[in-house]
Amino acid sequence: MRIDHISRIKLGHFPTPLEHLPRLSGALGGPQIYVKRDDATGLATGGNKTRKLEFLIANAIDQGADTIVTVGAMQSNHARQTAAAAAQVGLRCQLLLENRHAIPDPTYETGGNVLLDRLLGAEITELPDGSNLMEALRQRGSDLRQSGSIPYLIPIGGSDPVGALGYVRCALELMEQSRESGIHIDHLVHATASAGTQAGLVAGFVGSGSAIPVTGVSAGMPAGDLSDAVFDIATKTAALIQSADSVNRDMVVVDDNFVGAGYGLPTPAMREAVEITARTEGLILDPVYTGKAMAGLFNMIRGGRFARDQNVVFVHTGGVAGLLAYGSVFD
Ligand SMILES: *Cc1c(COP(=O)(O)O)cnc(C)c1O
Repeated sequence: MRIDHISRIKLGHFPTPLEHLPRLSGALGGPQIYVKRDDATGLATGGNKTRKLEFLIANAIDQGADTIVTVGAMQSNHARQTAAAAAQVGLRCQLLLENRHAIPDPTYETGGNVLLDRLLGAEITELPDGSNLMEALRQRGSDLRQSGSIPYLIPIGGSDPVGALGYVRCALELMEQSRESGIHIDHLVHATASAGTQAGLVAGFVGSGSAIPVTGVSAGMPAGDLSDAVFDIATKTAALIQSADSVNRDMVVVDDNFVGAGYGLPTPAMREAVEITARTEGLILDPVYTGKAMAGLFNMIRGGRFARDQNVVFVHTGGVAGLLAYGSVFD
């Protein structure tokens, strides 16, 4: 595989640390749990979108874009990181944010990521709950072109084959850390939503000939639709990196048992996972993505899925800025 021929700009702090969580591992009775600190990637408090944006923003610059446009839920971490990336390279940023009224928190529309979006100078357009976000994105793109701008449109979560290249690099980074530290990685678990993170990890492991199994714990979509999306992006990403081996359908594993009533809605298992992780390791997860993914990992461990001496890596994809707008979930 090759990746160095594809344009990338440096936006984050890499490599992110791979850290052992001995007290959490002990509290759950093994296996050994490690965390890949992609909550510490930089870019206005960090998160998994930084890696994707290194490729997406480079592609935008190559295309001569003057305006970055993206879409998401009101408390989108992706939107906030995109706003920070655009500010850093001096591009205009427009965010189309869907006001989902599921959470009755008064800070949902003003705090957390929205506060940071505003500080970062992004132009925010609020879309009503239930809007077709991809259609709104295309429409904004055509309006901007009509007025003489050159927009670069980033899909939800930065999840396209170019954005997923960021997680190919994460897969390579993990393999390097595994070699250096002598820690054999038996399994990888992370939160999945718009498919790009999982697609990049799977493509990266396939491309580099590693067979590390990956489980994505869904934050919203049913497993069938989400694994189709992951497989589609992973296949295209594997082509971009000229992978010798192709992605097989059975390499894409999505667990949708921890979504609860829907995207962004709290569950008891999520609260337990967030609280135990905070209190054993001082490590902060978020209620929308990483809390549900950690609940999924707890369940795999309690179900006897791993031996005591196996090593499981939890990829911490960020979300702390969103947590601060979901405080009422922990009342
Ligand atoms: C976007 C996001 C995810 C999901 O990543 P995808 O690439 O969209 O699947 C997970 N965790 C956090 C905190 C996120 O912001």
